[in-house]
Amino acid sequence: MSRQISFVLAGAAAVVAVILIAISASLTVVLAVGLGFLAGYLTFNALYSKSNRQADAPRLAKGSVSTDSTSTEIFALGKLFEATLGGMREGLLVVDSDMRVIASNPAAHRLFSFSRNNLESQRLTELTRNPAIYTAFLDALKGNERSGVKVETHGTGRRIFDLRVVPLNNGRNGDTSGAIGVFFDITQIEKLERVRQEFLSNVSHELRTPLTAILAFVETLETGALEDNDDNRRFLAIIRKNAARMRDLIDDILELSAIEAGNVEVETEEIELGALINDVITALGAKASSRSIAVKNKVPPGTKIVADPRRLEQMLTNLVDNAIKFNRDGGEVVISCETEEDSTRVMVQDTGDGIPSQHLERLFERFYRVDRARSKEMGGTGLGLAIVKHLARAHGGEVRVTSELGKGSVFEIDLPRTNGRV
Ligand code: ADP
Repeated sequence: MSRQISFVLAGAAAVVAVILIAISASLTVVLAVGLGFLAGYLTFNALYSKSNRQADAPRLAKGSVSTDSTSTEIFALGKLFEATLGGMREGLLVVDSDMRVIASNPAAHRLFSFSRNNLESQRLTELTRNPAIYTAFLDALKGNERSGVKVETHGTGRRIFDLRVVPLNNGRNGDTSGAIGVFFDITQIEKLERVRQEFLSNVSHELRTPLTAILAFVETLETGALEDNDDNRRFLAIIRKNAARMRDLIDDILELSAIEAGNVEVETEEIELGALINDVITALGAKASSRSIAVKNKVPPGTKIVADPRRLEQMLTNLVDNAIKFNRDGGEVVISCETEEDSTRVMVQDTGDGIPSQHLERLFERFYRVDRARSKEMGGTGLGLAIVKHLARAHGGEVRVTSELGKGSVFEIDLPRTNGRV
C-alpha cells in the first residue's frame, strides 16, 4: 500500500507540476511545485479512506516515527505542502466539484480579509459574492482553464488580482473533480501602469500645445504674413518661444527620467553653502531685477553642507526661480539655512501670493500646477518641483513646503549632515 501511495503521490505531483508549468509561463516554479504537492495531497485524500486517517491521526499529530513508512511519507509531505502554501505570496483556493473549499493558504485568507481562519468545507458563494471569481471557478469545473480574470476587492483598501483557475482532474477517467485558483496581487503593477499612462498622456499634451502654436504661426507666415514687416518678426519670436518651451520640456523630461531610473550619480562633498547660493542668485539676477525683486542670501559665511554641488545648485535654482516667478513685483526672496544635529535645512522664502492649502500635497507631482495658464505663460514646464523632490531624495533628504495665502511660501530642502557617497 505504502509503495502504491508513494507512486500515486509522486506521479500526481509530477504530472500536475508539469501541466501547470506548461500552461502558464508566469507561474513560478515554487508555485508549480506547491501545486504539484497539493495535487498529490488531494489525490492521497481521495485514495486514503477516512477511517484509516483517523486511526493514524494520533501518531501523525505526535510526529512519532513510525515503522510504517507510509505514515512518515504522509507526515513529511503534509509538512512540506503546508510550508510551501504558507510561504506563497499568491492566494490559493482549491474547491471540489460541489464548489466547497478543500484547501486554501494564509495568503488567500489575508487577501480577502476573511475573518475565519478555516475556510475548508465552506461553499465558495459563502466566502465571496464576487461574480468574476465564481464564474471562473465554475468554468474550471466544466474543464475550462480560465486565466487573466481581473478581480477587485474592496476590503481594507482597493486591491486588484489576476485570477487563474485550472481544472483539477482526478487522473483516472479525466473527469474534473475540483479546481485550483491562484490569485496574483497586481495592485502595484496596475498602479505603475496607470502612472505611466498618465505621464505619457501628459507629455503628449504638453508637447502638442507649443507645437500647435508653431505650426499655426508658420502657416500664417506662409500665407502672406512673411511680407508684413510689422508682424513677421513678432510671429518669429512666438515660434522661437514655443520651440524653446518644447526644448525645455524635453530637457526636463529626460532629466527626470534619468533621476527616476537611478541613472544620476549623486557625488557628495563638503560645500561652502553661501558661495553656491551666490552663484544661483547671480544666474537669476536679471530675471529678478526686471521685476524689482530683491534676492537675499542670509546663509552665515562659512556654513558647510554635504551634497553634490551640481545637483544642489540645480535644486536651489529651481526653487529660487519659482520664488521669483510667483512673487509680486517689488517682492523679496530670502535664502537661509538652519543646522540641526543630523541635517542641514536650506530655506527659500518668497513674498508671493502663497499657495492654497488643497494644492500643497500634490505640488511635487510631475506636471502639477496651481494655475496652469500662469505657469505656461511664465515658461514653466511643471516638472521643476518633481526634479527637486527626486534630487533631494537621491541625497537621502526631503523637500517640504509651507505657505500662507497673501504672504508667501517657504520651500525647505533637508539634507542629512553625515552623508557619504549616496
Ligand atoms: P513650473 O514649471 O510651473 O514652475 P514647478 O514644478 O516648478 O513647475 O512648480 C509647480 C507649480 O507649483 C507651479 O506651477 C506653481 O503653481 C506652484 N509653485 C511653485 N513654486 C511656487 C511659489 N514659490 N509660489 C507659489 N506657487 C508656486
